[in-house]
Amino acid sequence: MAKALKVAVLSGDGIGPEVMAEAVEILECCARLDDFSLDFRPALVGGIAIDKTGKALPSETLKICEESDAILFGSVGGPKWENLPPPEQPERAALLRLRKHFGLFANLRPALCMPELVAASPLRPDLVEGGFEILCIRELTGGLYFGQPKVTREEEGETIAIDTMVYRRSEIERIAHLAFQIARSRKRELVSVDKANVLENSLLWRAVLKRIGDAYPDVRLNHLLVDNAAMQFIKAPRSFDLIVTENLFGDILSDELAMLTGSIGMLPSASLGSDLRGHFRFGLYEPSGGTAPDIAGKGIANPIAQILSASMMLRYSFGMSVSASRVEQAVKRAIGKGYRTLDIASPNTKAISTREMGSQIRAAL
Ligand code: NAD
Repeated sequence: MAKALKVAVLSGDGIGPEVMAEAVEILECCARLDDFSLDFRPALVGGIAIDKTGKALPSETLKICEESDAILFGSVGGPKWENLPPPEQPERAALLRLRKHFGLFANLRPALCMPELVAASPLRPDLVEGGFEILCIRELTGGLYFGQPKVTREEEGETIAIDTMVYRRSEIERIAHLAFQIARSRKRELVSVDKANVLENSLLWRAVLKRIGDAYPDVRLNHLLVDNAAMQFIKAPRSFDLIVTENLFGDILSDELAMLTGSIGMLPSASLGSDLRGHFRFGLYEPSGGTAPDIAGKGIANPIAQILSASMMLRYSFGMSVSASRVEQAVKRAIGKGYRTLDIASPNTKAISTREMGSQIRAAL
């Protein structure tokens, strides 16, 4: 058997440890079924790490992450740590630091609306009938969030605030390559979202996407202005498969897409760094939602977002698309058989616990 793949397991706070336990068991099942081996390395992160070590991201945890092949992350934060100074708060001090430390420049957020769960979508049933599965790729380290100058100052007797939007060609090129490569594993259709009628940044974005697209003639590339994209997602979600966009637009549009599915407990995410060797990419994988303090400790959280985050890790960091599809199909089968946690249960269905949902998905594997 090949060398064990090292996975840093950072469960964090709230429902994190509850849903992480299910994801780890699913990965153990996959390893047995597909004959590979995983070395799980648990480490403290978030509020619990602050309580035990004084830091949201202790150096021991960072070291474990550095020595691992991927990070499986739960979620961090909660009311207990909300009054800390902003730079010490769990999300900023742990998650944002990890993204920066590992140069995670691409955020992948699938918006998955399964046919059985279309009732959870706030859209009219005829718009979502049959469900949809859209993947949004957001550039994570450039654009308006990081450009300099970024300052508020007094000028001619008035306060002015300045944010600067900057993209380098190389930053656009690397996310474009990633998007086209992912398009090849899906429907070979890529929609690039920009604001090329107003922004210099978007003109460069569009030009780079077009040029990189020449190297992927088998992928159909379309461009949409961001305001139109926001409307089309609501009008015709089923006509989209894969979106790529810059940081600010991606922040907003990925939340819009998540909302269209109506169930945050189902949505995973991946933050990817550079291609290290061949197809191997270092990545951090986590549910889209937070620590859900309102239901933490009750054993009723939906583990599917964490389980699908684990399947994204198999696909994007380890290149194990067969195992990843196996997990995704098992989730679909468990939902197809009618198993529901409270967040996705309709009034006439009985809700099952986190543990039971995990074991139904394992049975479906
Ligand atoms: P949240 O996502 O934790 O909760 C919003 C709602 O969704 C709640 O009603 C919750 O019960 C529900 N929910 C979320 N995940 C669920 C799941 N798996 N199963 C069932 N229901 C689920 O968002 P919030 O309430 O805004 O934030 C709570 C805490 O989480 C805050 O401290 C926030 O800072 C933190 N947070 C952390 C991350 C992260 O670690 N990446 C992300 C978002 C929020």
